[in-house]
Amino acid sequence: MTSQPGPARYTLVSFHAHPDDEALLTAGTLARAAAEGHRVVVVVATAGEAGAARADWTGDHLGDRRIRELEASAAAIGAARVEVLGYPDTGWPVPTSGEGISGPADPGGPVPFSQLDAEPLAADLAALLVEEGADVLTTYDENGGYGHPDHVQVHRVGAMAAEIAGTPVVLEATIDRALIWRAVNVLRALAWVLPMPVLPDLSTAYTARGDLTHRVDVRDYVSDKSESLRAHASQSTRARDDGARTLALILRLPRPVRRRVIGREWFRERGRQVGGDLLDDVFASLRPRPECGHA
Ligand SMILES: [Zn+2]
Repeated sequence: MTSQPGPARYTLVSFHAHPDDEALLTAGTLARAAAEGHRVVVVVATAGEAGAARADWTGDHLGDRRIRELEASAAAIGAARVEVLGYPDTGWPVPTSGEGISGPADPGGPVPFSQLDAEPLAADLAALLVEEGADVLTTYDENGGYGHPDHVQVHRVGAMAAEIAGTPVVLEATIDRALIWRAVNVLRALAWVLPMPVLPDLSTAYTARGDLTHRVDVRDYVSDKSESLRAHASQSTRARDDGARTLALILRLPRPVRRRVIGREWFRERGRQVGGDLLDDVFASLRPRPECGHA
Protein backbone atom coordinates (compact mmCIF):
# COMPACT_ATOMS: atom_id res chain seq x y z
CA MET A 1 0.00 0.00 0.00
CA THR A 2 1.27 3.45 -0.79
CA SER A 3 0.21 6.54 1.06
CA GLN A 4 -0.09 9.92 -0.59
CA PRO A 5 2.09 12.48 1.18
CA GLY A 6 0.04 15.41 2.47
CA PRO A 7 0.87 18.95 1.55
CA ALA A 8 4.25 20.05 2.90
CA ARG A 9 4.32 21.78 6.28
CA TYR A 10 6.94 24.44 6.74
CA THR A 11 8.24 26.49 9.64
CA LEU A 12 8.19 30.25 9.21
CA VAL A 13 10.04 32.49 11.65
CA SER A 14 9.03 36.16 11.49
CA PHE A 15 11.66 38.48 12.95
CA HIS A 16 10.66 42.00 14.00
CA ALA A 17 12.09 44.98 15.84
CA HIS A 18 9.19 45.93 18.12
CA PRO A 19 5.82 44.53 19.16
CA ASP A 20 3.25 45.86 16.57
CA ASP A 21 5.62 45.62 13.58
CA GLU A 22 4.44 42.04 13.05
CA ALA A 23 0.86 43.31 12.82
CA LEU A 24 1.51 46.05 10.31
CA LEU A 25 3.68 44.21 7.83
CA THR A 26 3.10 40.49 8.15
CA ALA A 27 0.03 39.54 10.25
CA GLY A 28 -2.07 38.50 7.25
CA THR A 29 0.68 36.34 5.76
CA LEU A 30 1.39 34.74 9.14
CA ALA A 31 -2.32 34.09 9.82
CA ARG A 32 -2.67 32.55 6.37
CA ALA A 33 0.40 30.32 6.87
CA ALA A 34 -0.86 29.18 10.30
CA ALA A 35 -4.33 28.48 8.91
CA GLU A 36 -2.75 26.37 6.15
CA GLY A 37 -1.06 24.22 8.80
CA HIS A 38 2.46 25.67 8.87
CA ARG A 39 4.33 26.45 12.09
CA VAL A 40 4.60 30.20 12.69
CA VAL A 41 7.05 31.67 15.20
CA VAL A 42 7.14 35.40 15.98
CA VAL A 43 10.43 36.84 17.29
CA VAL A 44 10.89 40.45 18.39
CA ALA A 45 14.29 41.96 19.13
CA THR A 46 13.02 44.44 21.72
CA ALA A 47 10.00 44.79 24.01
CA GLY A 48 9.38 48.23 22.49
CA GLU A 49 9.84 49.87 25.88
CA ALA A 50 10.98 53.15 24.31
CA GLY A 51 7.87 53.48 22.16
CA ALA A 52 5.28 56.17 22.41
CA ALA A 53 2.62 55.74 25.02
CA ARG A 54 0.86 57.35 27.90
CA ALA A 55 3.20 58.98 30.40
CA ASP A 56 2.47 56.37 33.07
CA TRP A 57 3.41 53.48 30.74
CA THR A 58 7.11 54.10 30.52
CA GLY A 59 10.20 51.90 30.48
CA ASP A 60 9.78 48.37 31.89
CA HIS A 61 6.15 49.11 32.56
CA LEU A 62 5.53 49.83 28.89
CA GLY A 63 7.75 46.91 27.83
CA ASP A 64 5.67 44.47 29.91
CA ARG A 65 2.47 45.88 28.52
CA ARG A 66 3.71 45.64 24.95
CA ILE A 67 4.80 42.01 25.44
CA ARG A 68 1.24 41.21 26.56
CA GLU A 69 -0.08 43.03 23.49
CA LEU A 70 2.30 41.00 21.33
CA GLU A 71 1.03 37.76 22.87
CA ALA A 72 -2.56 38.76 22.11
CA SER A 73 -1.57 39.66 18.54
CA ALA A 74 0.24 36.32 18.13
CA ALA A 75 -2.85 34.49 19.37
CA ALA A 76 -4.96 36.30 16.75
CA ILE A 77 -2.45 35.27 14.11
CA GLY A 78 -2.35 31.64 15.29
CA ALA A 79 1.40 31.69 16.00
CA ALA A 80 2.76 28.61 17.80
CA ARG A 81 5.52 30.48 19.66
CA VAL A 82 6.52 34.04 20.57
CA GLU A 83 10.06 35.00 21.57
CA VAL A 84 11.14 38.38 22.92
CA LEU A 85 14.93 38.63 22.65
CA GLY A 86 14.96 41.56 25.08
CA TYR A 87 17.56 43.87 23.52
CA PRO A 88 17.19 47.53 24.52
CA ASP A 89 14.78 49.47 22.28
CA THR A 90 16.49 52.37 20.49
CA GLY A 91 13.37 54.53 20.39
CA TRP A 92 12.89 57.02 17.61
CA PRO A 93 15.60 59.64 17.99
CA VAL A 94 14.32 62.07 15.35
CA PRO A 95 11.81 64.73 16.38
CA THR A 96 8.79 64.40 14.12
CA SER A 97 6.20 66.63 15.70
CA GLY A 98 5.67 69.13 18.46
CA GLU A 99 4.53 66.33 20.76
CA GLY A 100 8.04 65.39 21.80
CA ILE A 101 10.59 62.76 21.02
CA SER A 102 10.51 59.09 21.71
CA GLY A 103 13.99 58.04 22.82
CA PRO A 104 15.70 55.26 24.73
CA ALA A 105 13.90 54.38 27.96
CA ASP A 106 17.14 54.98 29.84
CA PRO A 107 19.58 57.30 27.96
CA GLY A 108 22.45 56.37 30.31
CA GLY A 109 21.55 52.69 30.13
CA PRO A 110 22.67 49.78 28.01
CA VAL A 111 23.62 50.10 24.32
CA PRO A 112 20.42 50.01 22.26
CA PHE A 113 19.67 47.23 19.74
CA SER A 114 20.46 49.35 16.69
CA GLN A 115 23.99 50.10 17.94
CA LEU A 116 24.95 46.59 19.03
CA ASP A 117 27.44 44.58 16.98
CA ALA A 118 25.33 42.58 14.51
CA GLU A 119 27.41 39.38 14.61
CA PRO A 120 26.57 38.11 18.11
CA LEU A 121 22.94 39.13 17.57
CA ALA A 122 22.90 37.08 14.37
CA ALA A 123 24.42 34.09 16.19
CA ASP A 124 21.59 34.24 18.78
CA LEU A 125 18.90 34.38 16.12
CA ALA A 126 20.64 31.64 14.11
CA ALA A 127 20.48 29.34 17.15
CA LEU A 128 16.73 29.84 17.25
CA LEU A 129 16.44 29.23 13.49
CA VAL A 130 18.37 25.96 13.86
CA GLU A 131 16.30 24.91 16.88
CA GLU A 132 13.11 25.55 14.91
CA GLY A 133 14.41 24.05 11.68
CA ALA A 134 13.19 27.24 10.02
CA ASP A 135 12.39 27.05 6.31
CA VAL A 136 11.53 30.72 5.91
CA LEU A 137 12.69 33.80 7.80
CA THR A 138 10.99 37.15 7.33
CA THR A 139 13.00 40.33 8.01
CA TYR A 140 12.76 43.87 6.60
CA ASP A 141 13.93 45.58 3.44
CA GLU A 142 17.33 47.26 3.48
CA ASN A 143 15.77 50.69 4.08
CA GLY A 144 14.25 49.36 7.29
CA GLY A 145 10.90 50.50 5.88
CA TYR A 146 10.95 54.22 6.64
CA GLY A 147 14.45 54.05 8.12
CA HIS A 148 14.06 53.33 11.82
CA PRO A 149 17.53 52.24 13.04
CA ASP A 150 16.11 49.17 14.82
CA HIS A 151 14.44 48.08 11.57
CA VAL A 152 17.66 48.51 9.58
CA GLN A 153 19.35 46.35 12.22
CA VAL A 154 16.65 43.65 11.79
CA HIS A 155 17.48 43.59 8.07
CA ARG A 156 21.20 43.23 8.78
CA VAL A 157 20.94 40.70 11.62
CA GLY A 158 18.29 38.62 9.82
CA ALA A 159 20.40 38.25 6.68
CA MET A 160 23.46 37.18 8.68
CA ALA A 161 21.48 34.77 10.89
CA ALA A 162 19.89 33.02 7.90
CA GLU A 163 23.31 32.59 6.37
CA ILE A 164 24.73 31.07 9.58
CA ALA A 165 21.72 28.79 10.10
CA GLY A 166 21.35 27.83 6.43
CA THR A 167 17.74 29.02 6.36
CA PRO A 168 16.82 28.63 2.69
CA VAL A 169 14.34 31.47 2.20
CA VAL A 170 14.62 35.04 3.48
CA LEU A 171 11.68 37.30 2.76
CA GLU A 172 12.08 41.00 3.42
CA ALA A 173 8.74 42.36 4.55
CA THR A 174 8.01 45.74 2.99
CA ILE A 175 5.30 47.81 1.35
CA ASP A 176 4.83 48.68 -2.30
CA ARG A 177 5.99 52.30 -2.33
CA ALA A 178 3.48 53.21 -5.05
CA LEU A 179 0.69 52.18 -2.73
CA ILE A 180 1.99 54.39 0.08
CA TRP A 181 1.87 57.34 -2.29
CA ARG A 182 -1.68 56.50 -3.23
CA ALA A 183 -2.68 56.25 0.44
CA VAL A 184 -1.04 59.60 1.15
CA ASN A 185 -2.96 61.19 -1.69
CA VAL A 186 -6.20 59.81 -0.27
CA LEU A 187 -5.27 61.33 3.10
CA ARG A 188 -4.44 64.67 1.49
CA ALA A 189 -7.81 64.65 -0.24
CA LEU A 190 -9.44 64.02 3.13
CA ALA A 191 -7.32 66.55 5.00
CA TRP A 192 -10.36 68.77 5.56
CA VAL A 193 -12.00 66.05 7.72
CA LEU A 194 -9.01 64.12 9.04
CA PRO A 195 -5.82 65.51 10.59
CA MET A 196 -2.85 64.70 8.39
CA PRO A 197 -0.32 62.53 10.26
CA VAL A 198 3.35 63.47 10.27
CA LEU A 199 4.93 61.42 7.49
CA PRO A 200 8.48 60.17 7.10
CA ASP A 201 10.38 60.79 3.85
CA LEU A 202 8.52 58.54 1.46
CA SER A 203 10.74 58.93 -1.61
CA THR A 204 13.12 56.22 -0.37
CA ALA A 205 10.90 54.43 2.14
CA TYR A 206 9.98 50.77 1.71
CA THR A 207 10.42 49.23 -1.75
CA ALA A 208 9.77 50.26 -5.35
CA ARG A 209 7.24 48.04 -7.11
CA GLY A 210 9.85 46.74 -9.57
CA ASP A 211 12.01 45.38 -6.74
CA LEU A 212 9.28 43.27 -5.13
CA THR A 213 8.99 39.49 -5.54
CA HIS A 214 5.79 38.75 -3.58
CA ARG A 215 2.37 40.28 -3.19
CA VAL A 216 0.49 38.01 -0.81
CA ASP A 217 -3.29 38.02 -0.89
CA VAL A 218 -4.49 38.09 2.72
CA ARG A 219 -8.00 39.42 2.13
CA ASP A 220 -9.42 36.25 3.75
CA TYR A 221 -7.38 37.07 6.85
CA VAL A 222 -8.24 40.75 7.22
CA SER A 223 -10.22 40.10 10.40
CA ASP A 224 -7.28 38.24 12.00
CA LYS A 225 -4.99 41.05 10.92
CA SER A 226 -7.32 43.71 12.29
CA GLU A 227 -7.44 41.84 15.62
CA SER A 228 -3.64 41.71 15.61
CA LEU A 229 -3.50 45.47 14.93
CA ARG A 230 -6.05 46.24 17.63
CA ALA A 231 -4.11 44.17 20.18
CA HIS A 232 -1.47 46.91 20.21
CA ALA A 233 -3.72 49.40 21.95
CA SER A 234 -0.82 51.25 23.61
CA GLN A 235 0.48 52.18 20.15
CA SER A 236 -2.62 53.31 18.34
CA THR A 237 -3.51 56.21 20.59
CA ARG A 238 -0.34 58.32 20.48
CA ALA A 239 1.07 58.91 17.01
CA ARG A 240 4.64 59.59 18.00
CA ASP A 241 6.89 56.65 17.20
CA ASP A 242 7.58 54.47 14.20
CA GLY A 243 4.84 51.87 14.11
CA ALA A 244 2.36 54.23 15.67
CA ARG A 245 2.54 56.73 12.80
CA THR A 246 2.00 54.01 10.22
CA LEU A 247 -0.71 52.43 12.34
CA ALA A 248 -2.44 55.77 12.72
CA LEU A 249 -2.16 56.33 8.99
CA ILE A 250 -3.76 52.98 8.20
CA LEU A 251 -6.50 53.33 10.79
CA ARG A 252 -7.42 56.75 9.38
CA LEU A 253 -8.04 55.37 5.91
CA PRO A 254 -11.68 55.01 4.93
CA ARG A 255 -12.79 51.41 5.52
CA PRO A 256 -12.89 50.15 1.89
CA VAL A 257 -9.46 51.66 1.18
CA ARG A 258 -8.10 50.20 4.41
CA ARG A 259 -9.37 46.75 3.46
CA ARG A 260 -7.55 47.06 0.16
CA VAL A 261 -4.41 48.31 1.90
CA ILE A 262 -4.23 45.63 4.60
CA GLY A 263 -5.56 42.87 2.34
CA ARG A 264 -2.19 42.49 0.65
CA GLU A 265 1.35 42.17 1.99
CA TRP A 266 4.62 42.59 0.14
CA PHE A 267 7.99 40.91 0.28
CA ARG A 268 11.28 40.85 -1.52
CA GLU A 269 12.89 37.41 -1.45
CA ARG A 270 16.65 37.60 -1.15
CA GLY A 271 18.40 36.12 -4.14
CA ARG A 272 15.26 35.78 -6.26
CA GLN A 273 15.19 37.48 -9.65
CA VAL A 274 12.80 40.41 -9.79
CA GLY A 275 10.78 41.47 -12.79
CA GLY A 276 8.46 38.48 -13.20
CA ASP A 277 4.92 38.13 -11.92
CA LEU A 278 4.66 38.79 -8.20
CA LEU A 279 4.27 35.55 -6.23
CA ASP A 280 1.37 34.93 -3.88
CA ASP A 281 2.98 31.95 -2.09
CA VAL A 282 5.69 32.67 0.50
CA PHE A 283 6.77 29.01 0.29
CA ALA A 284 7.09 29.02 -3.52
CA SER A 285 10.86 28.52 -3.50
CA LEU A 286 10.52 25.45 -1.26
CA ARG A 287 7.85 23.60 -3.25
CA PRO A 288 8.99 20.67 -5.31
CA ARG A 289 9.12 21.71 -8.95
CA PRO A 290 6.50 20.03 -11.10
CA GLU A 291 7.91 17.54 -13.62
CA CYS A 292 8.79 19.38 -16.77
CA GLY A 293 7.25 17.79 -19.84
CA HIS A 294 9.12 18.01 -23.11
CA ALA A 295 7.37 20.01 -25.75
ZN1 LIG B 1 9.15 49.06 14.85
